[in-house]
Formats: sequence, structure tokens, C-alpha cells
Amino acid sequence: MAVKKKKIKVEKEEAAQRVRNIWPVLKKTYPDAKTALKFVNPLELLIATILSAQCTDVRVNAVTKDLFKKYKSPKDWVKADLKQIESDIRSTGFYHNKAVNIKGACTRIVEQFGGKVPGTMAELVELPGVGRKTANVVLGNAFGTPAIACDTHVIRLSRRLGLSENSDPVKLEFDLAEIVPKKNWTVFSHVLILHGRNICKARKPDCENCPISKYCPAANNPALW
Ligand code: SF4
Repeated sequence: MAVKKKKIKVEKEEAAQRVRNIWPVLKKTYPDAKTALKFVNPLELLIATILSAQCTDVRVNAVTKDLFKKYKSPKDWVKADLKQIESDIRSTGFYHNKAVNIKGACTRIVEQFGGKVPGTMAELVELPGVGRKTANVVLGNAFGTPAIACDTHVIRLSRRLGLSENSDPVKLEFDLAEIVPKKNWTVFSHVLILHGRNICKARKPDCENCPISKYCPAANNPALW
């Protein structure tokens, strides 16, 4: 029988204390936490992040290995035929929309930003196909600006750990920004993503082997998963 999920009431101060408790443990557990996407500049990370929607990082890295040798600048993407881009990125799925977004974003980068990926949230979300999550990935990892990227793991773990009641990624991002010290924003999302992939999995979290279980309200409580 399906377990009925309970709504969690989150008090800000309690949530902030929980962050202070889990942060050193997670940091020690995942000392090298960073994005799994391979890139050498903001443009490559922007394209890789667009490609990563509904696709694994492993698959994206396999595709971008050759892709980034072929398309080196925003102008290369602008000049390319849409059908050719679709064919080059086909195996990442949703290739038509992704190709349109990549070409559109690069056109805007060339026409409005002098051929350089802009480095602010306000400018990044002006690019076609770029929402706050993609912008935060680029800001946090390519520009070194503290940024919280709320993917499915961050949403699930924040709820289980009682850090926020919100599953809307934008509301959650603002909730986390209040309780996580700004200097840790980028790495905090990475450690939650790794913990979600390794231990706190969607269907069956491994609470028995979880190093932060003593701080987690959902530990061994399926009603809160
Ligand atoms: S105790 Fe269980 S539910 Fe809580 S974070 Fe760990 S694995 Fe997830």
C-alpha cells in the first residue's frame, strides 16, 4: 500500500541549525564535490547544462567531447545549420528544442553581449532556454559566483531534511539562500546532489548507512520520503 506523504512544517531557525549540523559531515563525506559536467569555459558549461536536461551527465560528456572541438565560439553555433546541430546532439534527447535553444542563446550572446556569455543572473535568464537553474549552474561553476542550483536531488533532500517545504525550485532556492551561508551555496547544492545519488535515493533512501541520519527528520520514516 502506498505510504501517504506528510506535509512538513519548516521553522527557519531549526532549518538553519540543521544546515550547520549536516554541512561539516557532508563536506567531509564528499570533499571533491563539483559539477560532473566537463567544460573549460562558461560557453561550454552553458551548452552542457542545456544538453543535460532529461539526460545523464555521462551521456552529455560523451557528446560534448567531440562537439566542443567542432563548435568553439558562439558564432560557430550561430552559423551552423539547425538540422546539423540536431544531428550532433541527438543522443542527449529532446534534441530539437535543445538545438533551438542553443542556437537562440548563442545568437543573443553574439548580438547583445559581444560574443561573451554574460556573468549575471539577470542577463543569463534573458538567453533563450536558460532558466534560474541553468543560470545558477553557470554562475556557480564557471564564474565562481555563489549560486544554488535546485535540481531534483536538491528538491527531494531539502524536503526530507526539513530545510524547506517548497518543491518549487525557485522558492526553494530562496529558502536555502536564507539558511545556507552564501560562501557555501555552490558546493552545498553539489553535496546534496551527490548524497541524493549515493545514499538518499528517490525510491529507497539508505538511512541505515546515512552519515547525517541523526539530524534528519525523515530518517527511517517512509511517510516523510
Ligand atoms: S536519513 Fe534517510 S532520508 Fe534522511 S538524508 Fe539520510 S538517507 Fe535521506
